[in-house]
Amino acid sequence: MFNYYKSLSRKKKIVFNFLLSVSFLFCFFLLADLCFPFHTQGEYAPVIRYRDGSPMHIFLTKDQQWRMKTELSEISPSLTQAIIAKEDKYFLYHPGVNVGALMRAIVQNVVHVKRISGASTITMQVARMLHPKQRTYGNKCLEIFHALLQMYLNMVPYGSNIQGVKAASILYFNKFPEQLSLAEVTTLSVIPNRPNSLVIGKDNATIVKVRNKWLHRFQKEKVFSENVIADALKETLNAQRLDAPKDIPQLAWRLRRAYPLQYDITSTVDPSSQQKAETIVENYSHSLAMKDIHNSSAIIVDNRTRSILAYIGSNDFSDIAHYGQVDGVMAVRSPGSSLKPLVYGLAFDMGFITSKTILTDIPVDFKGYTPENYDNKFYGQVSAENALQQSLNIPAVKLLNRVGIATFISHLQACGYQSVWKQRDKMGLSMILGGCGVRLDEMAGLYAMLANHGKYQQLHIVADSSVYSDKQVLSSSAAYMLTDILKKLQRPDLPNENVNAQDVPHIAWKTGTSYGRRDAWSIGYDDRFTIAVWCGNFSGKGNPLLNGAATATPLLFQLFNSVGGSLPLRDSVPNSLQFRQVCRLTGKVPNDFCTDLVIDAFIPGVSDNSVCDHLKEVDLSADEKFSYCTSCRPANGYKTKLFPNIDPELANYYEQNHIDYKKIPPHNPMCTRYFPGAEPIINSLTDGVTYLITDRGKQKLQLSCAAASDTKKVYWYVNDKFVGSMKKEDKLFFVPEANKIKVSCTDDKGRNKDIWIGIKFL
Ligand SMILES: [Zn+2]
Ligand SMILES: [Zn+2]
Repeated sequence: MFNYYKSLSRKKKIVFNFLLSVSFLFCFFLLADLCFPFHTQGEYAPVIRYRDGSPMHIFLTKDQQWRMKTELSEISPSLTQAIIAKEDKYFLYHPGVNVGALMRAIVQNVVHVKRISGASTITMQVARMLHPKQRTYGNKCLEIFHALLQMYLNMVPYGSNIQGVKAASILYFNKFPEQLSLAEVTTLSVIPNRPNSLVIGKDNATIVKVRNKWLHRFQKEKVFSENVIADALKETLNAQRLDAPKDIPQLAWRLRRAYPLQYDITSTVDPSSQQKAETIVENYSHSLAMKDIHNSSAIIVDNRTRSILAYIGSNDFSDIAHYGQVDGVMAVRSPGSSLKPLVYGLAFDMGFITSKTILTDIPVDFKGYTPENYDNKFYGQVSAENALQQSLNIPAVKLLNRVGIATFISHLQACGYQSVWKQRDKMGLSMILGGCGVRLDEMAGLYAMLANHGKYQQLHIVADSSVYSDKQVLSSSAAYMLTDILKKLQRPDLPNENVNAQDVPHIAWKTGTSYGRRDAWSIGYDDRFTIAVWCGNFSGKGNPLLNGAATATPLLFQLFNSVGGSLPLRDSVPNSLQFRQVCRLTGKVPNDFCTDLVIDAFIPGVSDNSVCDHLKEVDLSADEKFSYCTSCRPANGYKTKLFPNIDPELANYYEQNHIDYKKIPPHNPMCTRYFPGAEPIINSLTDGVTYLITDRGKQKLQLSCAAASDTKKVYWYVNDKFVGSMKKEDKLFFVPEANKIKVSCTDDKGRNKDIWIGIKFL
């Protein structure tokens, strides 16, 4: 046999070696399968790392073993050399004799091939192996050798339920195999021979003796350089069995589910940011627990890379009574008002409003939907920036109605909102007040978009090389305007009186409180970080003490202070944004009569350019008791004065609430041509007719009309009480409650039609 081998040509020898290796491999797998029948590839449990590579969380396999797959990249040259040097000589002491024998055979085979191929180091061969073009039979053998080595390293017993180098490395040294020192590598390579008598933490002195015996042998055989060996010999062994790393369980499970085929997943979480954030959330949650609020979640995002630096699924995973295992970052909850900035941003970009535009905050009825403010008050006229800062509901609902629900939802979808998108057909105007479901990480993604000048990018949760593209969701101008508004939010009344203004970070932020006080949100950003906080009860139980500003914001501030959020937000104005003076009373371009002017940002070519009409000229009688129209105005003897130009809806609100405003004197009673023929014609009800109502208090009557071509809007009154306004083509309904009813329809030119109807309740 040997002579036959000797007689072969060089090329044939390589083929022979290859065939030999394949046979060994086949036998090895056969034997391995017989010896370790359950240790198949699928039986490894995944390992989750922090961004710096340190262990974050490991899992047990189904058979309750700590067994993790050592990847080829984790088998360092020193580990390879130590294993070869050791197994090559003393394979017989190994409990799996056959495995050892096969190892030796393969090693010798590789050494032989090594000579033939002229390669000098294993590292060089590994490098070749990674370049398929240069692949030779020799390298193929090396590849097989490495597969065997990998399998061997994954199966070696370390006592108790620890199997394989990777699990041992983590559970004894809190390191990964590639981070081990030579002393540690040698320690881990001697234990499998006597896993029950060489127990790390118990027999450390004996282990060091055995380890050093091997190090001396390596020294003699010049496996490693002198000084490397000398350092290794000096190294003490203080290791003991550590608790398995079990950090951020919710994130670990999330990653395990998201990457079911990966055995080693590196998250983007930064261990020091995580630890600081966890401590803050934990301490803070004690004060909330006293108020019967038991769960808090938070994430910290690096704005530049959009990676999640800290991930707190819940303040206490072990709090089973309060569902502490729920992942509050992934949980779908009502956002309260925290989506409002997006609708304002869209309204900026659509040119409807600027920050100083005056909006009306008075009761409205959107086909039966009558939103109210948080404090059940109405503020009349309010600038867009104040409406957003005070989180007024009616201006936000009106803006959403104008922007359009479909447009709003498509922008949320662009920002990764999954639940909203799935439920898009069921969404109504109430979604801007929290009538939809969102996740904490979705909220963080939205606000990180604002921090990045309107560009959205998916958040990174694993530290891989995947690149997500930027989507310009809002213009940089709109994002600037929003940031300018949100950074001026007033400090909430912090529960801790010792907190002074210096502790308030320079951030832009917004709160949200869901219906029934179930969810408290506070989300903020500065140049570097976006932080999103949620507090509430995973049980869904509401709490009268819960609201975004008082419950979640103090935690948001503490988290910002921990990451160093004390730098002021940058003030770089986008090129597309300009500033102008506007009338404070309307936010419009000043007219001659406007005297109270303010500076306002606007987007040239986009923002509304209309001139202020906060006053209008009215012709009056000399005694100012009557007003004239162009038809009844006398040729002389009248005077012209300016009056506030008040929206009829607002005027009606003022009337109902007895709010004083400068009224135009009644129209000239002698006027005979009071817009004849042009007043609206009520066509849904007929003057003088009695209507039968079978279901009192529920059955409705319709209000619709035909109006002149210059009419856009009409206003309805029942017995002089305002019912609602609508586009002239629309319909309104009211519930009749009296037997005799006066129905009035006034158009936006002040033309009015009254009719009287009778009601008979059956
Ligand atoms: Zn004005
Ligand atoms: Zn007139």
